[in-house]
Parts: sequence; structure tokens; C-alpha cells
Amino acid sequence: MTDSPTERVAIVTGAARGIGAAIAKRLAADGMAVGVIDLAEDATAATVEAIRAAGGRALGIGADVTDGEQVQRAVQAVADGLGAPTVLVNNAGILRDNLIFKMTDEDWDRVVAVHLRGAFLMTREVQRYQVEAKWGRVVSLSSTSALGNRGQANYAAVKAGLQGFTKTIAIELGRYNITANAIAPGFIATDMLRQTAERMKVSFEQFLEGAAREIPVGRVGQPEDIANAASFFCSEASSFVSGQVLYVAGGPKA
Ligand code: NAD
Repeated sequence: MTDSPTERVAIVTGAARGIGAAIAKRLAADGMAVGVIDLAEDATAATVEAIRAAGGRALGIGADVTDGEQVQRAVQAVADGLGAPTVLVNNAGILRDNLIFKMTDEDWDRVVAVHLRGAFLMTREVQRYQVEAKWGRVVSLSSTSALGNRGQANYAAVKAGLQGFTKTIAIELGRYNITANAIAPGFIATDMLRQTAERMKVSFEQFLEGAAREIPVGRVGQPEDIANAASFFCSEASSFVSGQVLYVAGGPKA
């Protein structure tokens, strides 16, 4: 049953740039007020201003999603400033790629912390409001790397982990009309992949061209391709879709 909402409040982590920024803008265009969280509040300004310029409501907050206290304060600030958050997009992410024999403890721990601990802390904090509202949406960013990718033992492990996390949240919170789904992007042209191009010692342009040749639809993805999927998962229309992983990669993945 969909009782028509007044204005939903969403939180998007890592929303200063890239995929997170596109999702934040898209959810605002869909009619939601958006808490724009990233490491530094200053960095959120462009996303917040773009949303406000388009007539939406947004609040920028600096918080590290791996830090429990900062997560608690950030979610509280959204609740105070915009209203009870019932939509959460766990998007904040980093890469620390290296072949296993060169991967440091720090490379491993930081990637696990940002993706897994970050999604856990944010979801635990936001579900209180979702349960209270008896409605909610949790969307977490997985990746095609969950299926295995050279140089990414840490990242592949956490992106697969987020799929298990998603399915479990879907089971535990389904009774409150809370759905949880994961989006697994393929190659999306963002700053995150610039460092991958550098590591492979090719220009970003060459890297994009090479990637596009391997993708069935013949192009790399754009942040808006992911925002389209997030928009559906955060909408009223997806209320019977939960615990799913949608590969948005320009071609079939497992
Ligand atoms: P990006 O590097 O452009 O943006 C990530 C954002 O997360 C940055 O603004 C960064 O400051 C923020 N962030 C990092 N650590 C944080 C922390 N501890 N707390 C709060 N914010 C933090 O990356 P992107 O390409 O837009 O990727 C977004 C998400 O999509 C990530 O989870 C990534 O793993 C996933 N993804 C990206 C691709 C791709 O091809 N770009 C593919 C698959 C999955």
C-alpha cells in the first residue's frame, strides 16, 4: 500500500562528487529532501547548491562514515534540519588497489572500514527512523568487482560483503516496509577511476576508450546511469523489490 508521502528525507553518503552527487541530485528531483554527507562539509557545497538551485532542499554535512560518533551526529543533524530520514544510500567508497602480495594491512583495513563498517553504522542509525515511520529504503553500492577483479582483493571482498549485508537487512526489516537493495555498477566514468588509470599507466581517456570496447552497449557508464537505478529503488514503486542486486554495467553480469 502506498500512502502518498509528503516529502521523504534521504541521506546519501559520499555525495560530494561522482555517483553519490548524481544520486543526491536525482532523489531531490524526485521530490526528496537530501542530506549530503561526505568527509568534509566544504566538499558538499556544489551538490547542495545544485539541489537548491533546482528548487530542492538539501543539507551538507561533513562526516567520516567509519566513525560511530560522527555518523550519529550527522544523522541527527539531518533529522533536525530536514526531518526524519527514511531513505539511505550507502555510497561512500574508496579504492586501495594492489595485487595481494603488495597489499598492506592499511589497504585492507581502510577499504573494509569505509565500505562495510560505514554501511553498517549508517544503516543501524537510520533504521531507527525507518522502523518508526514503518517505511524505508536502503540502497548500497556494490560493484561488478564483487565477482572478482585483479588487484582488488580488498574491494571485491567488501562489494560482495555488501550484497550479503543487503539481503540480511531485507530479511530483518521487511516487516516494517523497509526494502534493501544493492546496485552493482560496472565501469562508471568518475574521479575514482582516474587513480586506476594512473596505476595502469594509461591516460584517463585511453582508459575509458579501452573499457568501452569491452562493454556490450559500447560505452562506459555515467553517474546518472546509476542514479536512475537508485531512483527506482528509493521510490514507492519498488516496494515489492527487496534483497536484490542490480548490475548496471552495460551488459550481463552473473
Ligand atoms: P568517488 O571517489 O568519485 O566518490 C566517492 C566519495 O566518497 C568521495 O566524495 C569521497 O570523499 C567519499 N568518501 C570516501 N570515504 C569516505 C568516508 N569515510 N566518509 C564519507 N565519505 C567518504 O567514487 P564514485 O566512482 O562516485 O563511487 C561511488 C560508489 O560507487 C563507491 O562505493 C564505489 O565503490 C562504487 N562504484 C563505483 C564504480 C565506478 O566505476 N566509478 C563502479 C562500481 C562501484
